[in-house]
Amino acid sequence: AAEEGFDSEDVEGAIEAAGHGPLPVLAVVGRPNVGKSTLVNRIIGRREAVVEDKPGVTRDRVTYEAEWAGRRFKVVDTGGWEQDVLGIDASVAAQAEYAIEAADAVVFVVDAKVGATDTDEAVVRLLRKAGKPVVLAANKVDGPSGEADASYLWALGLGEPHPVSALHGRGTGDMLDAVLEALPEAPEQTFGTAIGGPRRIALIGRPNVGKSSLLNKVAGEERVVVNEQAGTTRDPVDELIELGGVTWKFVDTAGIRKRVHLQQGADYYASLRTAAAVEKAEVAVILIDATESISVQDQRIVTMAVEAGRALVIAYNKWDNLDEERRYYLEREIETEFGQVAWAPRVNVSARTGRHMEKLVPAVEAALAGWETRVPTGRLNAFLGELVAAHPHPIRGGKQPRILFGTQAGTKPPRFVLFASGFIEAGYRRFIERRLREEFGFEGTPIHISVRVRE
Ligand code: GDP
Ligand code: GDP
Repeated sequence: AAEEGFDSEDVEGAIEAAGHGPLPVLAVVGRPNVGKSTLVNRIIGRREAVVEDKPGVTRDRVTYEAEWAGRRFKVVDTGGWEQDVLGIDASVAAQAEYAIEAADAVVFVVDAKVGATDTDEAVVRLLRKAGKPVVLAANKVDGPSGEADASYLWALGLGEPHPVSALHGRGTGDMLDAVLEALPEAPEQTFGTAIGGPRRIALIGRPNVGKSSLLNKVAGEERVVVNEQAGTTRDPVDELIELGGVTWKFVDTAGIRKRVHLQQGADYYASLRTAAAVEKAEVAVILIDATESISVQDQRIVTMAVEAGRALVIAYNKWDNLDEERRYYLEREIETEFGQVAWAPRVNVSARTGRHMEKLVPAVEAALAGWETRVPTGRLNAFLGELVAAHPHPIRGGKQPRILFGTQAGTKPPRFVLFASGFIEAGYRRFIERRLREEFGFEGTPIHISVRVRE
């Protein structure tokens, strides 16, 4: 539709770009010091991933968005992994296993100057077992003389080694072309097989908020463990649990149940586990310890779920243990710390007493319904027309930018594209989001709004 100065190709392109579902996930794995973080920086094209991290510095952020040749994907950086009490082999294996579990394809980084080590061989076995597409990066090939080193890595049996210099950028373009070939258009494991199967819940939260207690409470003896991968260091396990007459798949519950006692890198490990679970899930139930102040870590977990575009429920646990005073402060904290996710259904539970367990499923169902909501274009534009007439954008530089029309480009979560006659300010975008929520619900779901401006 050549509407109001947009040609139909622009409109279709914008809708297509905005309507992408969840992005495919690329994991970058390998031993410490092979150059994973440097390579991730190179892939995402900026300095946000922290290479200069000191050991022991908390790193919560493990997934980044990247784009190559017009395709977008997520990158899971495992470079923050510290060698820990498990010993180097087990530690690398555990790290790789989590990352591989969450990924649609893997870049396996080997230091070409060092050559393949026993630890590298161990990772190769994990990669084989996982069966995900692998791109082998032979790193630290800073010049032509290093190419021969790279060719020795054919011996790993993973196909062609791609000689790269993460530091200088040499060869990374060719490697990324191979990555794009390996990555599916849409994440296979997450959404391809979802139709008709049980809905997938990630139960997440910082240590000691009561995740395993809650899982035990809701599951009782009825759970069915699926997806067990015996013989590996870590066992990412999904469990089928019947709740409210419906079977749900709780993803990656092994990370909840088995307490691996890591010292160094424990926070990072928890972040990686959380990111992996969120990637696999449709809805995240974030557990907060209501008896303690809401922490930065709680907020980061919420941000992780929102950025991943998952449906969201926030459960305040240990409600049996709240006094009047704490309850007062909790409400204040929720307002100030979680104001940006006020749309998330909230349940106040006690894993210990079973309080309000029955409210969990309706909250999850409401969030999933919001996540899947589709607003017909006619209704959306009737709404936008009224909105713009009643509350026009402020005049800027003598001009008044107007929202001309819009469409919902996708769901899970809902994504909108608005077409405008001029630049739409952030405040007005937020206003539109607020009004969209008032009008159409969207309980429990982030919504994305992108704006295209007529040239
Ligand atoms: P990670 O532990 O695998 O994340 O490794 P880092 O990215 O932290 O890199 C480890 C060290 O190798 C750092 O000193 C990097 O500067 C260096 N390094 C990374 N990539 C390259 C490369 O392509 N060439 C050279 N010469 N050094 C590199
Ligand atoms: P996880 O690390 O998130 O899996 O937390 P756990 O389930 O291991 O619980 C951490 C601690 O909190 C344990 O001592 C639990 O007994 C306690 N806990 C869990 N849920 C509740 C609850 O609802 N009320 C109270 N009072 N304590 C709880």
